[in-house]
Amino acid sequence: MAQSIQAIRGMNDLLPADTSVWQQVEQVIRATVQAYGYSEMRMPIVEQTSLFCRAIGEVTDVVEKEMYTFEDRSGDSLSLRPEGTAGCVRAALEHSLIYNQEQRLWYMGPMFRHERPQKGRYRQFHQLGVEVFGLNGPDIDAEIIALTYDLWQKLGIASDLCLELNTLGSNEERKVYKESLVKFLEAHFDDLDEDSRRRTHTNPLRVLDSKDEKVQAILADAPVLFDFLGAESKAHFEQLQSMLTAMGIKFKLNPRLVRGLDYYNLTVFEWTTNALGAQGTVCGGGRYDGLVEQLGGKATPAVGFGLGLERLMLLLTTLGKVAPKSAVDVYVCGMGTNIEGEQMKLAHELRAALPTARIMNHCGGGNFKRLLKRADKVEARVAVILGDNEVQNGTVAIKDLKSTEQVEVARAEAAAKIAALLAQ
Ligand code: ATP
Ligand code: MG
Repeated sequence: MAQSIQAIRGMNDLLPADTSVWQQVEQVIRATVQAYGYSEMRMPIVEQTSLFCRAIGEVTDVVEKEMYTFEDRSGDSLSLRPEGTAGCVRAALEHSLIYNQEQRLWYMGPMFRHERPQKGRYRQFHQLGVEVFGLNGPDIDAEIIALTYDLWQKLGIASDLCLELNTLGSNEERKVYKESLVKFLEAHFDDLDEDSRRRTHTNPLRVLDSKDEKVQAILADAPVLFDFLGAESKAHFEQLQSMLTAMGIKFKLNPRLVRGLDYYNLTVFEWTTNALGAQGTVCGGGRYDGLVEQLGGKATPAVGFGLGLERLMLLLTTLGKVAPKSAVDVYVCGMGTNIEGEQMKLAHELRAALPTARIMNHCGGGNFKRLLKRADKVEARVAVILGDNEVQNGTVAIKDLKSTEQVEVARAEAAAKIAALLAQ
C-alpha cells in the first residue's frame, strides 16, 4: 500500500459534523452583520508581502515570525494573509470605496499564521472581520461592539464573555508615553525577559502585554498611558463607555490591553472567556485611523474587529450551545422491478414541490429493512416509499420516522402530507 499523505499540522479538515455546526453559526453571523446594514467584501487570500509589512508593522509577532511568505514563479514576494484588515483597506483604496465615503464592511474567511498549533491556535484559522471607514466618533466604536454583543446574545454565550476595553490615545500622545515607558523599561532592563528587552527599543507598547510573570510584576509600577492622554482622547473614551453602559453592555477597563498589531489608536477592545484555557480571546479590535493613509490613501478614520471562528466554535460546543444537525429531511425509497427511474422522478417532483426540504434519494437498491436503516442513518424525518403497487395505483407510502406511523396517499398529495409532517 502506498504511504498515505496527511494534512499540514495546524490546518484542519472540517468534516460533515463540523460543517453542520459551522453553517448554523455562520448563518447567525450573516444575519447579524446584515441586520446592521453592513456589506460583504471578498478579498484574495494572497497579497504582496509588502502590504502586510507596511500595515501590520515589521516588529510584530505576525510579521516577524508568523507569516507564510514565498516567492511565486515570477519572483514576487507574496504572503498568505495573516489577517484581513490590510487586504480590506488595500481593496477599498484600489476600488475607491472609501474616497469621501463611509463604508461598513464585513468578510469571513481563512487566515494563515505559522504558530505552534494547540487548542484554539491553528495555522489556518478563520475570522469574521468587520471594518468601518469614514466615521471618527465613539458612536461607531460602540456600534461594532454592540454588534458583537448582539451575536453573543443570539448564540446564547453573552454571559460567558467579558469585554475588556482600553484606549491608546493619539499617535502624538503615545509617542510621549513611549519615551517615558522606554526610560522605565531601561531602568529595569536586567530583569526583563529576552522578548521584552528586544521590544523595549522596537515596540515598547508590546512589553505591556508580555505573558512573563516577572515582567508583569515589574510593570505594576510602570507609567500608565491614560495619564498621558489629552482631553479629546479622554472624551472619546468616556463617551464610548457611557454609550456601552446605556446599551447594558458591561466592560472591564484594562490599561495593559495594547493588541498585537501596530496600527491601533484610541479604542481597543477584546472579548475574552475563561472557558478555553490560554486561548481565551475570541474577538479583538479597535480604531486604526492612521492605516488608510499609511497605505497610500487620504487620511480616513477607521475601526474594526477580528473574530476567531475556531475559538467561537470551541466555546459554543464546550458550552453545549450547538450540535450537528441532520442534512436530510426526506428519504425517498423504491422497491420493485426497474423502480429506480420512477423513484428518481418522484424525488424530483418532491424537490420541485418542497423547495426548502432536503430530499435524499436512496441509491443502490436493497430490501425494506435496508432502506429504512439508511433513512435512520441519515436521520431523516420522513421516508417516502414507492413499490410496484404504488406505481400502479398512483400512490406513495409515507412513513413518519418519529412515530413510525405509515400512510398511503395519492402521489399528487404526497408533498402536502410531507410538508405537514416537516412542520410538526
Ligand atoms: P493571540 O493573542 O491569541 O495570539 P492575536 O492578538 O494574535 O491573538 P488577532 O490578530 O487580534 O489575534 O486576531 C483576532 C482573533 O483571531 C483572535 O482574537 C483569535 O480569536 C483569532 N486568532 C488569532 N490567531 C489565531 C490562531 N492562530 N488560531 C486560531 N484563532 C486565532
Ligand atoms: Mg497571535
